[in-house]
Amino acid sequence: MDASPPPFSFSRSASDTNPGPASDSEMDAPTDTADTDATDADTGAIDADAADAGTDPFLDGAGFFPGLPSGYGDLTGRSAVVVGGAMAGLAAAHALSRAGYGVTLYERQSYADKRVNCGEAITDASLLPLAKTPDNGFPCATTAFEVQVRDGNETESALFPAAWGYVADRNVVERRWAAHLAAEGVAVREGSSVSRGEFGELTDAYDLVVDATGQPSLASRFENSTEEYVGAMTAINADVTGDFSGLHPRALIVFEEYLGYAWCFPKTESRANVGIGWAQEALPDDFTAAFAAACERNGWPTPDPGTANVAVIPRGPSLDPRRTYDRQGVVRVGDAAGIANRFTGKGISQAIHSSYLMAALAAHDRLPEYPRRLHGTMRPEYFLSYVVRGTLEDNRLDLLRGVLRAVDGIDVESVDREPRKALARLARRPVLCARLARSPAIRRRAVRALRDDWEYAALEPGSGTEPETGTEVETGPETDRETASGPTRSLGRRLSALRPGK
Ligand SMILES: Cc1cc2nc3c(=O)[nH]c(=O)nc-3n(C[C@H](O)[C@H](O)[C@H](O)COP(=O)(O)OP(=O)(O)OC[C@H]3O[C@@H](n4cnc5c(N)ncnc54)[C@H](O)[C@@H]3O)c2cc1C
Repeated sequence: MDASPPPFSFSRSASDTNPGPASDSEMDAPTDTADTDATDADTGAIDADAADAGTDPFLDGAGFFPGLPSGYGDLTGRSAVVVGGAMAGLAAAHALSRAGYGVTLYERQSYADKRVNCGEAITDASLLPLAKTPDNGFPCATTAFEVQVRDGNETESALFPAAWGYVADRNVVERRWAAHLAAEGVAVREGSSVSRGEFGELTDAYDLVVDATGQPSLASRFENSTEEYVGAMTAINADVTGDFSGLHPRALIVFEEYLGYAWCFPKTESRANVGIGWAQEALPDDFTAAFAAACERNGWPTPDPGTANVAVIPRGPSLDPRRTYDRQGVVRVGDAAGIANRFTGKGISQAIHSSYLMAALAAHDRLPEYPRRLHGTMRPEYFLSYVVRGTLEDNRLDLLRGVLRAVDGIDVESVDREPRKALARLARRPVLCARLARSPAIRRRAVRALRDDWEYAALEPGSGTEPETGTEVETGPETDRETASGPTRSLGRRLSALRPGK
């Protein structure tokens, strides 16, 4: 095998964009019904329309991660188990299976009635190997995300185009993707929760264990270290019906005078996912009342409280990046790796990226590099979102308005994947930069972010999980994690200790 995997690069062709919204009649068709299943119930054969998304997003690298050039991808004989079958887990199963692993996927819920807590905006749907049809859970090809900042009577709007943006019926997307994987030979075990005890046995049975169970991860629960995830947002959301013809096919995010934001993501002209999220330091006393008030202020239908979900969004890096891979064969992806965006809480494309990166490195026999590569890939996004979040924490909506004005027009996914574009736009506004630099909180945040000094560093000394602030994450295959990080860092070793006969 070639010793050096291809570098990361961003390369999208102009034709790599979504095809625009489907017709209204198509989009209003109910999509989450049993008869839209991608597999034929008798034969297990995949419906070609459901699966055909053109080129394979993992194999071609999708522009953001190494992909799998020819010459790789024959790991036949190796086995992998993926625990958690949402976005990160499905992507991991897809990519590892493409790389030649025999893959088993465990998902606690049943895909037929799976509940997802999410705004359902997928900002890089090109990463999913499914045709972007309403039947596959893509009712709306979102053209742009409008972000409004409301400060007293002043409203500032910025528009972020979405080349591959969709507001999805995510339960349908997951069901279709799982069916697609099953048809390709992945052993999909839905409705199967892996217990902490069972997790302890997986490293014996499989060459690779992928933890895609969200936050806090099963690996952390196994280790009783769930407190290591720091920096969450709490959100409440619901699917509502109403008249969204004035907004659709755009999506709307509203920042007001609180530490958080509200959203309205139309799926059709008459259906939308609406929600509101708060940073954990600023939670309201009554979530339902605060949600209803936000809907009323914004002219959105007030959801029936019985249909609303309350869930936690991790803000990355909410986990020590070095903890994302255990040398003994346990690797964390998606929310389990604590990588959702710190400012927006957006984590779907991040989850898929982490899984594709993990699988590409596994295929190159370079998995020990995963923590460093994942952190390196995410770090510019962490930096931008951490610093910009300071404008909200300091209640400086004037500065947030200035930042939005500067970055207006950049593709919504590019803001995360190529934050240099946003930073370059800011650099062209010296007055704004000077105002940002005058804010002690923003200066402090910039310094902390540059030093990788995130919240997870505040873990209690002696817990065995605390990182050394400012030091580099795991450096590569030759690093001895046991020596570098202390014995409690090795989940695999602790799993081994539980094996029968040990
Ligand atoms: C209210 C809300 C709104 C959001 N809106 C957006 C948005 O619009 N766009 C966006 O990009 N991101 C959004 N996010 C973030 C996004 O939902 C997450 O970042 C993303 O879901 C992470 O995917 P994941 O697969 O890593 O984890 P999860 O989605 O948490 O999935 C974990 C899976 O593991 C399964 N599981 C857990 N434990 C076990 C076990 N023991 N055995 C077997 N299976 C198990 C669960 O059932 C679940 O299916 C939102 C989050 C919230 C809470």
